[in-house]
Amino acid sequence: MEKFKELGLDGEILKGIADLGFETPSPIQEKVIPVILSEESDLVALAQTGTGKTAAFGLPLLQKLETGMNKIQVLILSPTRELCVQIGNDLKNYSKYCPAVRIACVYGGTDIRKQIRELEKGVHILVATPGRLCDLIKRGAVDIDAVKGVVLDEADEMLNMGFKEDLNFILDETPETRNTYLFSATMPREVERIARNYLHSPKEIAAGKKNQGADTVRHEYYQVKAKDCYETLHRVIDCAPDMYAIIFTRTKMDARDIAHKLQKDGIDCDALHGDLGQNQRDEVMARFRSKRLKVLVATDVAARGLDVDNLTHVINFNLPEDVESYTHRSGRTGRAGREGVSVAIINSKEKGKLRRIEGVLKKKFEYKEVPGGNEVCRAQLLYYADKILAAEQKETLEPYQQELFEKFRELTKEELIQKMVSYEFGRLLKKYAGVADLNLTEDERRQGGGEGRRGGRSEESEHEFTTFSVNVGKEDGFTPRDLMTIINENAPRKGLEIGSIRIFESNTKFEVDVRGLNGFAGCFRNVSFNGLPFTVTEVKDRYSRNSNGKKRNSTANNRWRKSEGGGRARFGEKKKGAGGKKRRK
Ligand code: AMP
Repeated sequence: MEKFKELGLDGEILKGIADLGFETPSPIQEKVIPVILSEESDLVALAQTGTGKTAAFGLPLLQKLETGMNKIQVLILSPTRELCVQIGNDLKNYSKYCPAVRIACVYGGTDIRKQIRELEKGVHILVATPGRLCDLIKRGAVDIDAVKGVVLDEADEMLNMGFKEDLNFILDETPETRNTYLFSATMPREVERIARNYLHSPKEIAAGKKNQGADTVRHEYYQVKAKDCYETLHRVIDCAPDMYAIIFTRTKMDARDIAHKLQKDGIDCDALHGDLGQNQRDEVMARFRSKRLKVLVATDVAARGLDVDNLTHVINFNLPEDVESYTHRSGRTGRAGREGVSVAIINSKEKGKLRRIEGVLKKKFEYKEVPGGNEVCRAQLLYYADKILAAEQKETLEPYQQELFEKFRELTKEELIQKMVSYEFGRLLKKYAGVADLNLTEDERRQGGGEGRRGGRSEESEHEFTTFSVNVGKEDGFTPRDLMTIINENAPRKGLEIGSIRIFESNTKFEVDVRGLNGFAGCFRNVSFNGLPFTVTEVKDRYSRNSNGKKRNSTANNRWRKSEGGGRARFGEKKKGAGGKKRRK
């Protein structure tokens, strides 16, 4: 606690965090707390979740509150409802001994009138999702004229989720004299642009190097044939009976399919994806948090802001398109000093991607053999035995003891164990008796096995790609991952085969196998990216690729037409930015 005191924290706040078991500040807390406490300076902090950043900004901001003034003084913006609630709860815990402090959370998907009534009672710290806060500001239901500090938490995620316009609007509405504290796990151009436009000479702080995952995370990979990926996943789960994990998939269809298969295979799991309503999402989350689900299958988007601290594993069923996403995924395990494992299940075509991630993270993935039937059964049986040994004998068996002993009198100890195991594990033992070895030979692993798994299609198939153009590009912060997400969420069929993606300054060309689909380009009519209408047009350049990815039957030259893309109309131009800068050239 002495160290927290040295950073400038005092009194009731120290008591509050002592109750939470905080003893020494985390590196980001050491750097951020004094800045927010003593200097009237803006701040950009590069920080992953799990580093203690909520307390880093929460503690000094709590201490600086003037509780005698019944107005919102601190605004904390975060990407999701879950994260809002988490931050709100953390702040309430830190300020347990400061009864005058009032904290409220507002987010979409719930009754706005109730939130308005809470705001009317008076609030000092408001934690909000950008969309709902905009709504409240536009209704005149929230007064942010006295705001002195604005925290943008997980700024990169907020932009990824399309909150750019809302953030601009909110920041324009808060007093120019405010301090702004931006926290982000990554610094893509869009985040830098926000910092440039809205922060004044910010102090820059990094807690842990960019793109470096926590040291408490071990990275492992299984390399198998595409058709064996699911079975590998199933065995990896069965082989870790105490697993508490999130499995990441690239599309919501994959999330749904895998969850469904795992449920059928007897694993307590469910899917979290964009198609769920708020109530269903809450219900799945509640079951996962209370560990009634051992595994949650989720897309990156759906899992954003989902704060669960004690995951034993993160499983990448598809490796993400970029390293930052991988860092985000794997950063969900190995938190608060605990050990965690980030597992990648890859086919041979994904080896290059894996090596790239290794290169950026400067961490080696450990190759693991897919467990065989014996290993899975052994792991389950020993876990069961340990649980029996650890069971406390709380209730007395007295009234039934004699009868029970009598029933088992004829059996030896060995026979009794055998019967118990057969009873509990008969199905498992049968299922795993003589299962195939899924491991590739060393040659196959080196040579790449000649197959791929993109969108779950058969690896032997030959693809006929159609080229499309879309009117967003590098200068809009558009990435291949954004494209995949948008296609996966809007195309009428799952697992479309995607070929090359080329992102230019102001537009992007990409290939999709759209055979059997009508009007692919039209599926994006209501989609926008960072406030721009997402206009997809077909480029008349059709050719097919064989399974090696080589082009065949090119029927047209491959130059891009000069001016497709449908223009660059913008939704809702904003009024002035702080400092009068225009946000987009
Ligand atoms: P965060 O990055 O804010 O989500 O924090 C991750 C976890 O670390 C949370 O469970 C915090 O309660 C915990 N935590 C934060 N700071 C400290 C600290 N100084 N000592 C111990 N635990 C902490």
